[in-house]
Amino acid sequence: MKGPFKVQCWLKKLYRHGPRFQRHFNTLKHTQSYKPEQLLAYQSKMIQKIVLHCYQHVPYYQDLFRSLKLDPHTIQGPKDLEKLPLLDKRTVQENYDRLISKKHYNFLCNMGTTSGSTGMPGKFVRDFDAINFEHAVVWRHWRNAGDMGKRRVSLRGEIIVPASQNYPPFWRYNPANRELQMSSYHLSRDNCADYIEKILDFKPQVLYCGPSMGHVLAKFFRLNQVDYQFDAIFTSSESLDPEVRAYIEDVFQCQIYDWYGQAERVAAIGQCAHGQYHIQEDYSVVELLPAPESGLYELVGTQLYNYVMPLLRYRTQDFVEMRESVYPQMACACGNYFRKVERILGRSYGYLLTPEGYHIAITAHIPVGVDNVIETQFYQEKKGEVTLKVLTNGNFTESDRERLVFNTLKHTSPHMKVHVMEVDDIPRGPNGKFINIINKMESLN
Ligand SMILES: [Zn+2]
Repeated sequence: MKGPFKVQCWLKKLYRHGPRFQRHFNTLKHTQSYKPEQLLAYQSKMIQKIVLHCYQHVPYYQDLFRSLKLDPHTIQGPKDLEKLPLLDKRTVQENYDRLISKKHYNFLCNMGTTSGSTGMPGKFVRDFDAINFEHAVVWRHWRNAGDMGKRRVSLRGEIIVPASQNYPPFWRYNPANRELQMSSYHLSRDNCADYIEKILDFKPQVLYCGPSMGHVLAKFFRLNQVDYQFDAIFTSSESLDPEVRAYIEDVFQCQIYDWYGQAERVAAIGQCAHGQYHIQEDYSVVELLPAPESGLYELVGTQLYNYVMPLLRYRTQDFVEMRESVYPQMACACGNYFRKVERILGRSYGYLLTPEGYHIAITAHIPVGVDNVIETQFYQEKKGEVTLKVLTNGNFTESDRERLVFNTLKHTSPHMKVHVMEVDDIPRGPNGKFINIINKMESLN
């Protein structure tokens, strides 16, 4: 297995860092210090190009422009996007094939299937260029935080070793990224000494993780009274609570650089070296849709680079509190004029506890590929037992149910007891936030 995995790592890197990667990266180094009027000019140029492309090659938009009797040339900049209706998840699901460009779809396209933040299965196609662009943006975030290719350890919820394996190694080495990929699933009270020993031996300089797994790891370091300092920690995938941030930063004596993105790739927010969250204005056009009576805004994004399945004015259903909802007059100490976000209320985090005592934080993969599911939520009261609440479209079948159970066992533990319960509604948490996992148990049991 070792050989093929290493080959895969290098191929993946080659694919992500393809011929256009460096070009995008060089451009992004400049655009991050653009003044507001330069950003507007840049976004306008890109909008004109992609809107015209949608009109010429994407059936869904061809029909839309026709029905609105709208001339695509009248869309000249971000403000003009308001001439188009908002696009939501359900519309994307219902018009999936018609949202794919007739001109650009080919074998090099990558199908990102993920459920996103609301547990709703969705598929989003991107081409080689869009993938290179995406990685250039993320790469810039890392580089700005001083990671020039340092040794890293990651806990990102991927399946690294089989869930049924109960002995080390619970990790594998990715030579292309100089990355020790550790299994999030096996981090438990029983195994934590193995994890700590391996980290001390590997001496990583940076940590990549979801906040919940970073939190669990930090707790185990403290519990075992082991000191370790990273140069930086990069979190993503879940919202980062201030208390969790403070705890992790205190244990590992370094700064966290948090990142927000989503499967649909319509908006990105990154934290700079001065602790500010910035909307990445050269990544996409982000509109802030005021949410009633909350002072919050929903992020609505228009892609500038995905020509295979372009999403215009896509509603993320993720909410933010803004520090300034307009472009600032003064640059941030980091040098950019990107709008500042106070707080991201995207996704809550929690974890499931398996019979083996493992913490499963990332459940987004579970509903992927299961038909007739609109939203899912996990509810746990007892160790090793979980109820999966499912909001269906009314056509949910026995085989959909079996598939959900199968996926849950695969991503948690083969010994997990799973109950699937159809519900009429999945209530939102405070501020309309969607909650993936509700766990009524004490942590670190
Ligand atoms: Zn800044």
